[in-house]
Amino acid sequence: MTRVVGKIVGGIAGFYYVATEHGIIECRARGKFRKDNVTLLVGDIAEIQMINDREGYILNILPRKNELTRPPVANVDQAIIVFAIIRPELNRILLDKMIVLAESNDIEPVVCINKVDLKEDREAFDLVSVYQKIGYKAVATSTVTKEGIDELKSYLKDKVSFFAGPSGVGKSSLINSIQSNIKLKTGEVSEKLLRGKHTTRSVELLSLDFGGYVLDTPGFTALTLDIEKQDLRYYFREFLEFQGGCKFSSCLHIQEPGCNVIKAVEEGLIDKNRYVSYISLFKELKEKEKRRY
Ligand code: GDP
Ligand code: ZN
Repeated sequence: MTRVVGKIVGGIAGFYYVATEHGIIECRARGKFRKDNVTLLVGDIAEIQMINDREGYILNILPRKNELTRPPVANVDQAIIVFAIIRPELNRILLDKMIVLAESNDIEPVVCINKVDLKEDREAFDLVSVYQKIGYKAVATSTVTKEGIDELKSYLKDKVSFFAGPSGVGKSSLINSIQSNIKLKTGEVSEKLLRGKHTTRSVELLSLDFGGYVLDTPGFTALTLDIEKQDLRYYFREFLEFQGGCKFSSCLHIQEPGCNVIKAVEEGLIDKNRYVSYISLFKELKEKEKRRY
């Protein structure tokens, strides 16, 4: 039988479900994965040997672009970072922290400000444009009025994405508004997953009929930043065009004299709240460093 390459979209009790050009193939992993202590992850690109038209075994996995542990998933392209404009109150520092978390894992952040139906003023749209100006994809949405949902879908197209954000902001509602009018191709997998009784359910990639996948479990549940404090400035990409003008090339833009980034903040060229987030996250990393030594 033939060898094919596909994406692991689900797994349970030693079985992996691999989406291939021949549909979903139920696979077992070869013993060598156990021997080499390699854990296969949802999102892995696997080379499989087909046994018949529905079953096969996994020969190999291709090198990963990235991997997360909570939830366990590999090769994620995007994090849809969801916050509600109100209810619960929007936490800018946490929003910017999640952007850094995404970028430090080689995951592209997409900012999604939800529940815009609850606010009559322009606040959500102003916030979206702050992030768009920096160069991020950003969208204001409502699962009630469906505003912004088509734009969100266009960002999900042909990518592997997961939703991240505090609880209650509307992540599940957003996933449902995307799925309600599409036919999920993972029904077959879900059925099999349901039949596996005495095993904990693992994460699953839901296939979008317009192309792409969405993880059924929110990401960044463990929120520790794993970067050095002096590297934080590189994750605030709007600082980059100004930092060349700082008096010291090692400038961390905290309180150094002749800091061109601080000047840009004062002149309104850099969003003040982004700078507030920077200072706050810098302090957090500094505290963490102190505890380490
Ligand atoms: P999650 O915890 O992030 O998955 O949030 P949920 O999807 O469970 O939503 C939390 C609550 O917010 C639910 O009562 C939803 O009905 C509500 N909700 C979600 N999206 C919107 C929205 O766009 N507008 C309004 N007004 N309520 C929303
Ligand atoms: Zn500076």
